[in-house]
Formats: sequence, structure tokens, C-alpha cells
Amino acid sequence: MPKHSDVAVVGGGVIGLACAWRMAAAGHAVTVHDPAPASGASWVAGGMLAPVTEATPGEEAVLALGAAGLDRWPGFAAELAAHGDPGLRTEGTLVVAVDPGDRAELDRLTERLARLGRHVDVVRGRGLRRAEPSLGPEVRSALSVPGDLAVDNRALLRALLAACRAAGVRFSPHRCEALPASAAVVIAAGADSGFLHPALRDAVRPVKGEIVRLRSRRGALPPPSRTVRALVGGRPCYFVPRDGGRLVLGATQEEVGFDTEVTAGGVRRLLADAVRVLPAVEEYALEESSAGLRPGSPDGLPLIGALSPDVFAATGHGRGGLLLAPITADAVLALLDGEAVAPEVAAADVTRFSVSGVTSPDSQRHSRVVGSWA
Ligand SMILES: Cc1cc2nc3c(=O)[nH]c(=O)nc-3n(C[C@H](O)[C@H](O)[C@H](O)COP(=O)(O)OP(=O)(O)OC[C@H]3O[C@@H](n4cnc5c(N)ncnc54)[C@H](O)[C@@H]3O)c2cc1C
Repeated sequence: MPKHSDVAVVGGGVIGLACAWRMAAAGHAVTVHDPAPASGASWVAGGMLAPVTEATPGEEAVLALGAAGLDRWPGFAAELAAHGDPGLRTEGTLVVAVDPGDRAELDRLTERLARLGRHVDVVRGRGLRRAEPSLGPEVRSALSVPGDLAVDNRALLRALLAACRAAGVRFSPHRCEALPASAAVVIAAGADSGFLHPALRDAVRPVKGEIVRLRSRRGALPPPSRTVRALVGGRPCYFVPRDGGRLVLGATQEEVGFDTEVTAGGVRRLLADAVRVLPAVEEYALEESSAGLRPGSPDGLPLIGALSPDVFAATGHGRGGLLLAPITADAVLALLDGEAVAPEVAAADVTRFSVSGVTSPDSQRHSRVVGSWA
């Protein structure tokens, strides 16, 4: 594809904006089509960049892609900093368990990570209280994952919008009912991507997630200094710190179609689980509750690649779209310029499910997450 050719990106979430920025900076003329850029799942997300504790058994390709994605984050954030601070945090993750069944699961995770050669430390007793004084008495041990990062998703989106504008990206505030006429099109419409191309129809599905945003108040123990992931009675929950004593508590996972309403039950479950891990949460201010739709795929890998010579998919990132934004943007630029993508991205090729361009029935086997840290 010659430089300065016209590229349309459908969807201005973290994936569409990251792709648009990279392509415009490389000399392409890019237009992002979106009635509400920087909204969608990207606006709701927790902000963990934590592939090591994310992957479930059998998802080795997901772990490899996530690890490669994590490697790109420091450079990506440094380049983005010229347009806005994305709030990258480097304190790592603590993984904790509450009930005996959760502790057994934590032991299994420790063994699995050791087998995979991933560096983790087990922290117990006083060491754990010293590390994170706000953890409750039901939490007796933890796995410390030092290499994980976290990002402030909303600061990231603001920085990406500024970077896109600085690179000359144009914005069209319209919802696309069909693919725009352009020399090349990138489909990055998140959970809605399936409406835009027949090969994506059965491959991308909405997975609803609710989060709660909290702020610590005077007199309460401050939030943890790093991401805490927990299993509570088999249900995953996590806490991602933000500046100013703020904390994102997430997240529910439900397959209920395109429903983005926050439910009382979802918030109740999140808060009930949260106070068993961090009892001080009860004294925090509840600033916001929101719901978003993760663009789920059948096997946990995203869908990245060419659907035809001038139509590219960059979607299906499920619960890892923030983590995978930099590596996806690099891959889409490589595809557009006719270059090879990183080997970890090749495993996510959009054509892996398709028979003659339409998703095969096998792809409808949806991966489910039960009793894991995701
Ligand atoms: C509760 C929750 C917590 C999460 N936590 C994390 C986390 O900690 N770490 C992580 O890496 N990931 C996390 N994720 C996943 C991450 O948010 C998603 O993978 C990522 O946001 C997907 O980005 P996207 O750009 O593909 O989609 P979205 O952010 O949903 O953006 C899609 C955009 O496309 C636009 N659009 C849709 N249809 C059209 C159309 N027809 N025409 C024009 N525009 C259109 C929408 O307006 C929207 O702006 C979380 C998700 C949720 C819901």
C-alpha cells in the first residue's frame, strides 16, 4: 500500500486509535469513523497489563501474545508521553486467594507459572502485611508478579486522541452501517465488529463486564500500591490503583448480548467480594459504576489480519485490549505496508476460523472462564 493512501478506521476505541496513530505517523492519510470515540469497553476497562496471571491452562498462545504485547508497552508509553501521560504503573501484581478452594487454585497457578519459567515470588505473613497493609485477615499468602504493568485507561485514551490529532488523523462522527469507501479499511469496532463483515459475524461476541470506581477517604486505610487480583469463592475480582487514592474494582463477566446497563446484583457481588480482600473498601466513596462489552473471540486470541487485500480486522481482544493495543497497532501497520507481523500475532490471524471467508461452526465453541484469575 503506497504511503499517503487513504485509510478508514471503523471504531475509535483503544485499538482503533492506536492503529490510527501508528498509521498516520507512518505517513498514511487516516480517518477514524466513530460517533463516540474513546468510549466503549476501553473507557470502562480496569487497566491491567498483566498477561502472566491472565492466561488460563491451554491458552499458551494467549500468554505468548500477551507477553509480547507487554514488552511493547514501555516504548509505546514513552512515545505517547509527548501527547499526554497515560499513567503507566510499574509496581506489579499481587495475586491473592480467600477461601480454601481459592488457595488451592493459587497453588496451581504458582506451579503452572513455575513450569512455564515465569518469575514469581510467594509472599506470606508479615511480609505480605508490610507489602500491602490494606489486605484483610482472610488473605494469608500472595503471589507477587513483579513484571506486570497497569495503565490509566482514560488518561491513555486522552493521550491517544491527542497523538492522533497531532499526526493528522481526521475524525468522522458517524456510525458506519457498512464499510466506508476507502483505499483500505481497518475494522476496529470492538464488540460491534461482527455487524461489519460476514467473516466476523460469529467470531466476535459481547462479553459484559461491570466495574466500580472507588476513592479512599480520610481515616480509611489507603488503597494497595499495586494491582491486586483475587479469587473469592471461585469468583475473580481485581483492584487497580489510580492516582489520588482512587481504585478501579472489577469485574463481572456475563454473556448477555449487547446489554450495557449496570445491575444492582453485579455491583453487590463485586463489593461483597472486595471487602473480603480489602476490608477498608467499605469506608471508601463509591464514585462510579459502569458496564462495557469486551469483544470476545472463540479461543481468547484476538482477530488480526487481512479479510481481503484492502480490508483488515483488528478486533476480538476480549479482556486484553489495553494490553494488546501497541502490538496490534504495529501489526496493522505492517499488514498495511505488506510486511510480516510478529510471530505471536500470526497465531491471531483472523482467517484461522474461516471457511471461504465465513466463520466455521467450530469457532462457535466459546471459551469460558470459571474459577480463574481472569
Ligand atoms: C469491565 C472491563 C474491564 C476490562 N479490563 C481490562 C484490563 O484490565 N486490561 C485490558 O487489557 N483490557 C481490559 N478490558 C478489555 C478492553 O477494554 C477491550 O479489549 C478493549 O477496550 C477493546 O477495544 P476496542 O477498541 O476493540 O473496542 P471498544 O473500546 O469497545 O471501542 C469500539 C469503538 O467502536 C465504535 N463503534 C462501534 N460500532 C461502530 C460502527 N458501526 N461505526 C463506527 N464506530 C463504531 C464505538 O463507538 C467504540 O468507540 C476490560 C473490558 C471491560 C469491559
